[in-house]
Amino acid sequence: MNIQENVSLANYTTFKVGGPARYFCNVETIEELRSARDFANSKNCPIFVLGAGSNVIASTAGFDGLVIHIDFNSIEVDGRVIRAGSGSQMYDLVDTAVTAGLVGLEWAGGLPGTFGGAIRGNAGAFKGEIKDTIQFVTAFSTATGEIKIFDNPACEFEYRESYFKRHPVWVILNAELLLSSGNTEQLRSIADEHIEFRKTRHPLEYPNAGSMFKNVPIQTIPTATMELFKDFVKIDPFPVVPTGKIIQDAGLKGYQVGGAQVSEKHCNYIVNRGNASGEDIHQLVLEIKKQVHDKFGITLETEPEFLGFDT
Ligand SMILES: Cc1cc2nc3c(=O)[nH]c(=O)nc-3n(C[C@H](O)[C@H](O)[C@H](O)COP(=O)(O)OP(=O)(O)OC[C@H]3O[C@@H](n4cnc5c(N)ncnc54)[C@H](O)[C@@H]3O)c2cc1C
Repeated sequence: MNIQENVSLANYTTFKVGGPARYFCNVETIEELRSARDFANSKNCPIFVLGAGSNVIASTAGFDGLVIHIDFNSIEVDGRVIRAGSGSQMYDLVDTAVTAGLVGLEWAGGLPGTFGGAIRGNAGAFKGEIKDTIQFVTAFSTATGEIKIFDNPACEFEYRESYFKRHPVWVILNAELLLSSGNTEQLRSIADEHIEFRKTRHPLEYPNAGSMFKNVPIQTIPTATMELFKDFVKIDPFPVVPTGKIIQDAGLKGYQVGGAQVSEKHCNYIVNRGNASGEDIHQLVLEIKKQVHDKFGITLETEPEFLGFDT
């Protein structure tokens, strides 16, 4: 395992922002992960675990600790079970399931990121969530060095939440999915539809981190505001008002702070128009939250991880 110094996080995040990680390493085995933990302990520095960087926004100051880039990328099919390393790309996992004629991951067609990142954030789209098929997750504690197997209830999955998100000392190593049997052609066509939908509806031409905010559960919306949005409720995975609609109606479409802009194509995306910094994105997020709260009484919650910021 090779520990590098002062590695730019902009090169490891889909938003293409962020200063240096003081230390950085790639781990392919559990032994390497243990050595990385020992190294961080010897330097008395914090650890940050990175997958594909599709849900991380790093500050210009970067991270004064060790970034561990997870590269456990085996995928194995055993009947209706798929076992995969947490560094496997979701694109590859979806393709493997579809090719094997296994139902349960087609919702994730076009979802960027790693399997571990998807489990940690309970990623979801098109009425599916990773929690629906997870049987077991194996994780390593950077606090104690212990390895533990979590069954599905122990993962405490909720909307874009999990036990691992609430307890970041746990590094997801691998996990097991239980799928059902289906037809490869049909599954491929569903996954491809989702990929196509993303291409046409999302601003993929600019660097971004996907949806900036969680959609808003209807029960948290003040009654007077709900009147305005009642025709826009969707069930995904429970009744919500899409945040893109709320931000658009707050008049923020195209609103810009430095190089960070509320996408004109999809208002729940912030995009990097070329020279954004993490601070621009952070500032824009705070401004959107304020204006949406002032106008509609709605408190927005962010989805991505902000690294190196106070809030
Ligand atoms: C264009 C685009 C579209 C997107 N669409 C969706 C969508 O439809 N639905 C959705 O839910 N998300 C979506 N996202 C967000 C993102 O794809 C998911 O959150 C993804 O699961 C993150 O995986 P990652 O490997 O990139 O994680 P990273 O961005 O690398 O990390 C995200 C967080 O997970 C932690 N983490 C990563 N790997 C591990 C691990 N092995 N163990 C423990 N913690 C870990 C990191 O520490 C960090 O806190 C989208 C992003 C983009 C750029």
